[in-house]
Amino acid sequence: MITVKNYVKPGTLEEAYEMNQKRANRIIGGMMWIRMGRGNVNTVIDLSGLGFDQITETETEFRIGCMSTLRQLETHSGLKETFGDFFKECTRHIVGVQFRNGATVGGSIFGRYGFSDILTAFLVLDTKVKLYKKGIVPLSEFIRMDRDRDILEELIVAKDGRKAVYLSERRSQTDFPVLTCAASEKDGTVLLSIGARPMKADVTETTIDEMEQAADTFTYGSNMRGSGEYRKHLGRVLAGRAKKALEEGNV
Ligand SMILES: Cc1cc2nc3c(=O)[nH]c(=O)nc-3n(C[C@H](O)[C@H](O)[C@H](O)COP(=O)(O)OP(=O)(O)OC[C@H]3O[C@@H](n4cnc5c(N)ncnc54)[C@H](O)[C@@H]3O)c2cc1C
Repeated sequence: MITVKNYVKPGTLEEAYEMNQKRANRIIGGMMWIRMGRGNVNTVIDLSGLGFDQITETETEFRIGCMSTLRQLETHSGLKETFGDFFKECTRHIVGVQFRNGATVGGSIFGRYGFSDILTAFLVLDTKVKLYKKGIVPLSEFIRMDRDRDILEELIVAKDGRKAVYLSERRSQTDFPVLTCAASEKDGTVLLSIGARPMKADVTETTIDEMEQAADTFTYGSNMRGSGEYRKHLGRVLAGRAKKALEEGNV
């Protein structure tokens, strides 16, 4: 259990950022992960008054506010039209609808969790994160940056015509994944991302023909959900299924 002393809802990002520089304070998204932890938090900083709870669409991109929920990703008609079932597939196994109505995109990406379906998925799209202090950074760079006390404002996802597919393997419905896999194809170039290895998702560039071999180049490890050897096997299987889906246009 965590114990929180104060709750604030700042009126500006600068105010939120200043408060977040104190180690005893914490930004909250939906509080879904934080509340599972232990310890004392002096002040939780709720970003829900800053207007980051929408997914907006233009001719060229989507802007996904950090306080948008996983359920919004799952049900957004523009995302569905552009990326087919991709966002439904990467969200629908996460706990349940009520949970997904609370968990946020900002918390999911900023947390950089090893098991994250969400991180795995966004890595195969042309995704950038907009950070309050560091500005706009490609997601593939963000995952390698040291953790700090910046604020993630929104994700920017290009509508560049790529086709994308999402797959995961779970021991039982709604459990954390044993392995996650996303792939996208544009003009013959494939991005393949594998997560829950159990290390956090990473992405590599390959071709349709080389997808299974590309899955072998990731590092796989063991935890209570599966061995490294099993994960490596699954990586090939999921990459093979993703390849088939991309080839058949089943995305
Ligand atoms: C029981 C359980 C099962 C889960 N299963 C899965 C699963 O199968 N697949 C999956 O992908 N995910 C899973 N998750 C993770 C979940 O989807 C959310 O990603 C996670 O709970 C974060 O939730 P939240 O948005 O409420 O963030 P919070 O818990 O509020 O915050 C998480 C972290 O992010 C920081 N943070 C939040 N927003 C911002 C921001 N805008 N800028 C900077 N820092 C920020 C917080 O300070 C905190 O450190 C699970 C979580 C739980 C609790």
